[in-house]
Amino acid sequence: MVRGKEKTNTSLRKDPSWKYSVQVDIGGGEKSYVYLKCNFCEKVVKGGVTRMKEHLSCSHKNVAPCAKVPDNVKEEISAYMKKTTTVKHLQQQQFDERVDQGAYFGSESGKGSSSTIHNRGARVL
Ligand SMILES: [Zn+2]
Repeated sequence: MVRGKEKTNTSLRKDPSWKYSVQVDIGGGEKSYVYLKCNFCEKVVKGGVTRMKEHLSCSHKNVAPCAKVPDNVKEEISAYMKKTTTVKHLQQQQFDERVDQGAYFGSESGKGSSSTIHNRGARVL
């Protein structure tokens, strides 16, 4: 079996920020930070792709908005950021729904009276 063509870094680079910025090395910069240079305005953003997304989408106050980003790119980044937060929300929502359903079914069977009585009897024993 030969799997030579497998790419290991694809998940890291699927973020759209990489299309519109390049990682740069800053001489004397803090090593713990990833510096990205915006392809549009050439601003260097410290703090990695998250910061770059905020810069490109012009959505955040803690990073300067990009003055030259085309509208379609701004929208793409905004949509990507929305999508990733939606996924997180969805997982939380699904979890909540499951909990709700459990509570709902529990109270529903309790209404049938027999199970509640049965439970009480079991606890007494
Ligand atoms: Zn920019």
